[in-house]
Amino acid sequence: MIKKILLLGAWLCLAFAAPALAEDFVWVGIDYGGSAVRSAVFKSDYGLNFYNAVTGETLYSSGPGEAVDVRPEGGGFAAAGKFAAEAVDRLSVQSVNKTPITYNSSAYRGYFFLRREGGAMGVLNPLPMTQYVGSVLGREMSASFPTEALKAQAVCVRNFVLGEKGRHDGFDVCATTHCQVYTGIDAEDKSTVAAAEAVSGVTAKYGGEAVPLYFFATSGGKTESSENVWGYAVPYLVSVDDPYEPKDLASHYSWSVTLTGEELGRRLANHGYNIGTVTEITVDETTPSGRVNKMTLRGTGGSKTLVREECRTAIGSDKIYGRMFTVAGDGEARGLMTTAGPLWDGLVLTAGGVAHMAGSSVISAAGVGEISGSTARGASFTFTGRGYGHGVGMSQWGAYGMAKQGFDYIAILKHYFTGITLE
Ligand SMILES: [Zn+2]
Repeated sequence: MIKKILLLGAWLCLAFAAPALAEDFVWVGIDYGGSAVRSAVFKSDYGLNFYNAVTGETLYSSGPGEAVDVRPEGGGFAAAGKFAAEAVDRLSVQSVNKTPITYNSSAYRGYFFLRREGGAMGVLNPLPMTQYVGSVLGREMSASFPTEALKAQAVCVRNFVLGEKGRHDGFDVCATTHCQVYTGIDAEDKSTVAAAEAVSGVTAKYGGEAVPLYFFATSGGKTESSENVWGYAVPYLVSVDDPYEPKDLASHYSWSVTLTGEELGRRLANHGYNIGTVTEITVDETTPSGRVNKMTLRGTGGSKTLVREECRTAIGSDKIYGRMFTVAGDGEARGLMTTAGPLWDGLVLTAGGVAHMAGSSVISAAGVGEISGSTARGASFTFTGRGYGHGVGMSQWGAYGMAKQGFDYIAILKHYFTGITLE
């Protein structure tokens, strides 16, 4: 960690030995490791300067719109007919007038940094934090969301970089879902750029430290505590009531999906659990927020107990959107369950006294009873639920609802992240 920061610091100084640039830079890994390239084509409207990133020496200056194809050569780089720097293992590519740089077919802000990785080249894109946030924000939240929701999300994007340092060797974040999806200028919108600029320099802290702020699409009424999702408690990531989501608009606010026992078996097998065709599902435990925390599936070839996030990811989050759900089989319980309210609020009315829900009261023809587990049987199973995503941290649709009701981004962030400060 310390070693990496020193290394980055050294690179920054060296890379800027030529033209000096201010502001915090985020180093994004575009192509590296297994995706390192053997050809990198750059161009820019007013031309480019190629520097030895160690000495600051100018190696080549291209004309307006001129494409320069950089390839590995010796221990360094070369562009046919333009320059050869076979002993230089780090190269920086900067545009004249800070105009966007096209790398292959996408346009980026900031500049480029090439490093030799074996016989290939790693391609990094350092750029000012605010410009990075303006781009990533356009991938994380719809640009049409209200301004205060976009600003709250912009702080999340920025804090991720500050709070998750050390995930990569020699740069801050990659450009994929492993970190945050970054595709350069094409993801920017006027509204996302404005939101990024409005919160430029604002950092969310807990206990004096910049911390990662997690988010998801829709909570369904209550967010989840981190220990029920990732297995460890984080003081600012605790379950809170979430009454602000617009039920009619929020993504998968309520949902229902029916899967056959065979398809469930196939999906579990793809995840590495071979239990044959699923014939029975028991919800063993739910969290205080109402999410399934432990669930046992029995099949023709064995059984498997899932805990926490696997309760949805082992089946597939393309079908099981969140863990706030109940399961009914088409076997013995078919047609018997109706609800007087949301199932997870604990009231279930049945005609035959057969429906089961963990931790809930059941009022049936036979009276009222506490139920310790819920078992569904049959050839197909219907999952009925609310919410989309892991449920930890900020609900994006909740932020939308809060902004529509007049809350600012500070109130939004403080609602979802208990005890944080904004500095
Ligand atoms: Zn990453």
